[in-house]
Amino acid sequence: MDTDVLVVGAGPTGLLLAGDLAEAGVRVTVLERRASESNMTRAFAVHARSMEQLEIRGLADQLAKTGTTVRELRLFATVRLDLGVLPTEYGSLLVTPQYQTERVLRQRVDELGVPVLAGVEVLGLTQDGDGVEVTTRTADGATTRYRAAYVVGADGVGSTVRKALGLPFPGHSVIKSMMLADVRLSAPPADVLAVNGVGDAFAFVAPFGDGWYRVFAWNRGHQVDDSAPLELEEVREVTRRALGTDFGMGEARWLSRFHSDERQVPRYRVGRVFLAGDAAHCHSPAGGQGMNTGMQDAANLGWKLGAAVRGWGDDALLDTYHAERHPVGRAVLRSSGAIIRLAMIRSRWGRAARNTLAGLLLRLPPVRAAATGSISAIGFRYRAPRGADRRVGSRVPNLALRTGRLYDALRGGRFVLVGAAAGELPLPLPPQVDAVTPARPLDRLLLVRPDGYLGWVGTADEFPAWAREYFRT
Ligand SMILES: Cc1cc2nc3c(=O)[nH]c(=O)nc-3n(C[C@H](O)[C@H](O)[C@H](O)COP(=O)(O)OP(=O)(O)OC[C@H]3O[C@@H](n4cnc5c(N)ncnc54)[C@H](O)[C@@H]3O)c2cc1C
Repeated sequence: MDTDVLVVGAGPTGLLLAGDLAEAGVRVTVLERRASESNMTRAFAVHARSMEQLEIRGLADQLAKTGTTVRELRLFATVRLDLGVLPTEYGSLLVTPQYQTERVLRQRVDELGVPVLAGVEVLGLTQDGDGVEVTTRTADGATTRYRAAYVVGADGVGSTVRKALGLPFPGHSVIKSMMLADVRLSAPPADVLAVNGVGDAFAFVAPFGDGWYRVFAWNRGHQVDDSAPLELEEVREVTRRALGTDFGMGEARWLSRFHSDERQVPRYRVGRVFLAGDAAHCHSPAGGQGMNTGMQDAANLGWKLGAAVRGWGDDALLDTYHAERHPVGRAVLRSSGAIIRLAMIRSRWGRAARNTLAGLLLRLPPVRAAATGSISAIGFRYRAPRGADRRVGSRVPNLALRTGRLYDALRGGRFVLVGAAAGELPLPLPPQVDAVTPARPLDRLLLVRPDGYLGWVGTADEFPAWAREYFRT
């Protein structure tokens, strides 16, 4: 083996995963087709659960400094969603360019000494019972083979890894000819986010926090190929129609057209090869969830692959990656699809009905909690295994401990047993587990997985037998 795990793609998904694997002591190499960093920013919204995942890795403060927080989302002209109600310290979304998120993740990977081979394109792969062989090509045409115990395709929506596995990517197109412009505004909107659709036009404006603004504009009457040239005047004109003003749109640093598909691969794992991020699912940018979902795929997969490489994680544990993340991907496709379809309603009556109904529904606390929980991913949980406490699989907030906070204790990819005071600990603890005492007593011991979800709930008497089987100690 050249390495334990090969990660294909140094986007946000691949970088977070590579960092987690390295932190767990796994030998990992990243192969990236691009020769240099990309300064084109697709994603600009980092949601609450991603901020919590970054906090677990000690990176949240660093990323927060690069952007601006938005507490209230405006889904349609009049419908507001207050993220401040979320049960987290991150009751907002962070607006920051995708390259800032990638830089923070890349810095961690570099500090951990992970080789990131830039300008290396993966062409294909084959696998056998012991490992996976990947064929690559560099810009000068030289081909090389690498062998690893596991491979993760985090190579984006056009994933070569997915194609090499022969997997379909079923779905359909949701929106064509969306215009994107990163611009300066001389008269920016008073609200942090401005969004509206009228008849055949739709526009969305959000600040990056550094004087630049991201504009999406769409014109039903002018649907052209992504490669058609785009002038700022077209973006201005559609924005004026949708929002009543172009906010003094001036200099543009990026203008492009894009389309969005809604697709999901049916299997996230084939033998020793896994798919994560856009390689496994894609949808429209409405809701800003693509990059966020990819990073959380990585957080789910990292510790499981680490366990497999270390010898205690079996096939069944690796299978839980698909079992847990595929339903989340499906839910994200559904919710982002609903947002974009509702935003694009054509008739005035349809839009009025949408606004009234959404406004009324979102006043109901359970609907509001479901909407904010889904968009921020704070509300996602995994299914508890049969016979387990029903809380197993749920997200664990950053609990106050007698000393410090839970997310600090999770740093380094460890399991954390929360609950017992020093004299009551079910000793000896497995080598993968640290124990901490909560600030307030709990009714049961909680075993928190490295990705911040509940892995087990029970009593000190029950723990040793369960842990012996789970950790194979
Ligand atoms: C306009 C727009 C706005 C968006 N806004 C948001 C938002 O606000 N919030 C959000 O969460 N998401 C948003 N998204 C989606 C987000 O950008 C993607 O979901 C995210 O980039 C996916 O990350 P990834 O790491 O899975 O894939 P990518 O970022 O696509 O990274 C894949 C990497 O793999 C490399 N690669 C590809 N093929 C190969 C190969 N054969 N060999 C080696 N390397 C390879 C690529 O060069 C690339 O670096 C938006 C998307 C668009 C288009």
